[in-house]
Amino acid sequence: MSNLGDFRKDFDQLNSGDYVYFDNAATSQRPRQVLEAVSNFYKTANANPLRGLYDWSMAATDAYENSRAVVADFIGASRAEEIIFTRNTTESLNLVAYSYGLENVHEGDEIVISVMEHHSNMLPWQMVAKKNNAKLVFMEPLEDGTITEQEYKSKITDKTKIVAIGHVSNVMGVTNPVKEIAEYAHSKGAIVVVDGAQSAPHMKVDVKDLGADFFALSGHKMLAPMGIGALYGRYELLEQMQPFLRGGEMIEYVTREDATYAEIPHKFEAGTVNAGDAVGLAEAIKYIQNVGFDAIEAQEQKLTTMLMEGLAKLPYIKVYGSKDPKKHCGIVTFTMDGVHPHDMASILNDDHICVRAGHHCAQPLMQFIGAGSTARASVYFYNTESEVERFLDKLSKVREVMGYGA
Ligand code: PMP
Repeated sequence: MSNLGDFRKDFDQLNSGDYVYFDNAATSQRPRQVLEAVSNFYKTANANPLRGLYDWSMAATDAYENSRAVVADFIGASRAEEIIFTRNTTESLNLVAYSYGLENVHEGDEIVISVMEHHSNMLPWQMVAKKNNAKLVFMEPLEDGTITEQEYKSKITDKTKIVAIGHVSNVMGVTNPVKEIAEYAHSKGAIVVVDGAQSAPHMKVDVKDLGADFFALSGHKMLAPMGIGALYGRYELLEQMQPFLRGGEMIEYVTREDATYAEIPHKFEAGTVNAGDAVGLAEAIKYIQNVGFDAIEAQEQKLTTMLMEGLAKLPYIKVYGSKDPKKHCGIVTFTMDGVHPHDMASILNDDHICVRAGHHCAQPLMQFIGAGSTARASVYFYNTESEVERFLDKLSKVREVMGYGA
């Protein structure tokens, strides 16, 4: 197994003070190699990609297209053209909703999502359903976050045109049975959209094996810069879809009245592309592959087990989701009796410990679990046992700070 301590040295911000960074589900830190790859692009290959016939532009194009191939390989796409670069998961999912959803969902049809979805995988489908008089149907999990076979089979029917599901919940940390759901959805003639924002950084993804027709990810949650994301789409589906944005770089021929569009993926990448950050994403993927998913998962499980065992010793803490740390994908969401999560996060911040507090862009889930707001600690492979100890120690003193007896 890789020595994770060696990798940690690559993360300048993590090593720049005494901060404990436990908000990795919101965004990861970035290693020096990724920052250097982006910087190198601008130092050596800076020109507008896909346009010029001169060396620098061709170098920029090569760097950009090579990055696309790296992403395709990373998630098991059969060809690079199946990868569209976007800004993030949100944009990827909106692309599918606007370009596929609005065209293929009609009055009386149904779109099935889960109540656990991040708003990014909910609002676009609310929009499609409202515009086209379709129905949005919600799968609901058990208390531990499980969507049972009975649940998805009762919600996915012959009326279902799209099933949009998060691979890993950003609140419960649960990994949904996407492969089984996809198989059933396909048997009913529906297509499957997977929100991979929380899975791609943490586990080996194979879109083909998963049965995803579309798969969205965000670079910034997996060591890459903010502002670069990707959408995988099955070739046949992308080919038949209309563009999401229109303008430069995505056309074949334009007249005063009309336009024909470029082949995929360029049909979906209007305007000057974010080549520098695409290069950063490819470098981030190489970095993750170098660490290895076995090591990533083992470290996350070790830290999550420590976190959950420590939290279980505090009787006034409630942890959401499964009791099994292996089913949390490094995400532990909790509340503390008598203390608002914002106060908790603020008191932890006094000790330079960063956790998230709020609704985590999943308000319908908060309503479902009966919590207005929760705190969330989320770890990545570069976090350490001593950071977990520091977090637990400080957390055990939060109620005292708030005026409760020790
Ligand atoms: N889906 C899930 C499950 C997420 O956790 C997030 C980010 N919190 C998103 C979608 C949206 O990602 P982004 O803000 O990068 O578009």
